[in-house]
Order: sequence, then structure tokens, then C-alpha cells
Amino acid sequence: MSRRIVFSSLAALALTATALTTTAQAQDGNADCRNLDDPSVTGWTDHEQLTQQLALIEASSAGRVQVDVIGESHRGREIYAARVGTGDRVLLITSEIHGNEKTGTEALLAMLRTLGSSDSPEAQALREGVTIVAVPKFNPDGAELNRRQNDFPWDEVTQVFPQFQGFDPPYYYSNGARGFDLNRDFNADLAYEPQPADIPTDQTQPGLYLTNESRALRDPYVDLRAEFGEVDGYVDLHHMGPCSQQNDTDQYVTVALDFPPLGSEALGNPRYADWPLLDQDKSRRYALAAALGLQEHAGQGNADASPFFGGVSRYTHQQIADGYSFDRDFAGQARSAFGLNGTGTVLFEVRGQSDDWGQKQLGQLVQVVLAGVFGIAERMADGSIDTLNGDDFYDLPKYW
Ligand SMILES: [Zn+2]
Repeated sequence: MSRRIVFSSLAALALTATALTTTAQAQDGNADCRNLDDPSVTGWTDHEQLTQQLALIEASSAGRVQVDVIGESHRGREIYAARVGTGDRVLLITSEIHGNEKTGTEALLAMLRTLGSSDSPEAQALREGVTIVAVPKFNPDGAELNRRQNDFPWDEVTQVFPQFQGFDPPYYYSNGARGFDLNRDFNADLAYEPQPADIPTDQTQPGLYLTNESRALRDPYVDLRAEFGEVDGYVDLHHMGPCSQQNDTDQYVTVALDFPPLGSEALGNPRYADWPLLDQDKSRRYALAAALGLQEHAGQGNADASPFFGGVSRYTHQQIADGYSFDRDFAGQARSAFGLNGTGTVLFEVRGQSDDWGQKQLGQLVQVVLAGVFGIAERMADGSIDTLNGDDFYDLPKYW
């Protein structure tokens, strides 16, 4: 048994350490497509429970897990970051940047419990090889409301930033929700301060760092860069729709992975010529590592035996070079801002929004996230992530 396959058992260990139950149906990687209209979110960890659970994890970790408050949401809820491991490579992970996309939060708690408590050689090797900083609930106000946006009405924005009085909000503010899509509020200029002249009107323009939340993540990113020289990896955990199928098959997408869309790849990302640290191949290697983790987990290295791997896909990433009429380009996403600063960034999109489908499949979806995250972390720990062929990422099926 290879070291890596032993490592992958960490994902299974992390799951058994949770109180989650998984039904036979939930183990089926190709369960039916349904919009279940499941507005209850009682199965998910809310902010108060998160506070309690992180304190327990830290207290029982014998110093392995350190929990910090990295900022406060606009409504005054703590934004936590938990750090585990002493390795000289750093993996930053966030969940619930969109407050109705909750699976990653459960997966990160399971991961922290395992890495905080396990004395197994695999856990020790991971802790020695990697430093993981996990932000399990990045948008606590949106999470409490079970919605995508945070809770920051424009008239309160203009009180905090008087220079914006008389201006219309940026495109990523929702008049209905009276809050922001936090995953458009980032800017690769890590010292940027909000200016009305820069109000973006579309997704190709960077965000303004208007929110407490985006600034709360920028600060530790900057600190980690100073401490380690660079932040090697960043994983951003999301949900997508429950009914997407891979092209020309009846296989539903279990999880879709992506590197940051930053304009035309074939043309060398000309919009971002001023960002020499951008390394899209690195991001593809990190995304591929997640896919390999999913292949190994439950399949013991045999993809056909994994209930998840058949549904692992590439996330929608339209490029003119591929025959599309436009380039997907999201300059204000956290993954874009960090990618432009040299971090290998990976987007996870698991099946189903938590408010219409996800809770019924919670066990399966948590396993998917764990397997992918451990797939990255274990390959960072043993260095093998550096020698993957990033082009192999394109072998994953697409669904659009
Ligand atoms: Zn999302």
C-alpha cells in the first residue's frame, strides 16, 4: 500500500469522527436529480454551534489546533480561522463565503477534529508537511440567513465609507438582499482601499474590499505571505445546482473543480500581464490533486470503485480560445485575487444548494469535500503536487 493511499484513509477517519449518518442512498454517487425544496437548515452547524465546536476542538488538541478571530462580520459575528500543522507550506481554505453553501463547513470541522486529535503516522506526517489555515464560516451573517450575500445595506456602506455617498453600488450588491456577494469583493492589490472611481460595473473588474468579511480574509493572507514567503494553496468551498450532468452522459456532477478563470488562457492572460506571479498551471495541479484524492478515497486507488469519482468534473470555464464568445473572468473573486499573487487556487462546487437539496445528501457531500481537500494537503505534504502534470486536469469531463 503506497504512502499516499494510506494518507487517503485520513479522509475516512475524519468522517467517522463526525456524528453524521449516511444513508445507502447518500452513498450513491449518482443519486437522482431532485430539487427537494428543503428549506430547513437544522442539520447544519450554525454560528453559535461553530463557536462551541471550535473551542472544543482547540481544547482537546493538545496545542495542535489554534483558533483565532480574524475579524467580525458587519453584524458583529466572529469570523474564525483555525490553524493546524507546522509545515513550511501553507494551505488556506474557506467555506460559506456564500452563506447558503454549507457542506464545506462540516467537512472542515471534521478535518480539524481529526488533525487535532489523531496520533496516526499519517496525521503526523500531514501536520509536519503542511500548515493548514481553515476559515469554516466566512460569511456568518449570510449563513444565519441561509442566503448567498452578507448583510450590509448600501445606506450603511455610505456611513462607513462616506466617500461613496451619492454613488450607486457595485454590480455585486443585491438590492433585494441588501448585501454583497463577498466572492466579488476581492482585489489582487492587497493594499487597496475603496475609491468611488473604481466602482466595478461587471465581473472583469476587481472588487473594492468594502466588506468586513473580505478584509478579514485579506489580512491573514497578507500575514501568511510575510510569515512563509507565499501562500502555496487556497481552496474555496461552494455548492452548485443539483441537476448538472456531464456531457452526453446520465452522470450527475458530484463535484466540479476549477482554477481561476482570468481571461484567455491561450493568449497568456493578457489582461493580467502586470501580475507575474500568476501561475495557472500551478492552480491546475492543485485542482488535479483534489480529483486524485477523490479517486483514491473509497476507491483505494481504483477510480471505478469510488462512488464519487465518476461525478468529478471540471467547472464551467468558458474561454474564447475554446470557441466561446466570451472569456469567463472574475477579477473580484478571492481565488482570482490570490491566484494573481502566486497562490495555487482551487474552486470546489459540490452538488445542490443546502436550502433545496444538500441537507439530504450531507453525508456524501462531506465525504466528497474531505477527500478532495486531503488529496491536496497530502500531496503538498509529500511534495508530489509539484510534479503533477497540470494538463491532466483537462482529462476530467466537463458538463457545460
Ligand atoms: Zn458559491
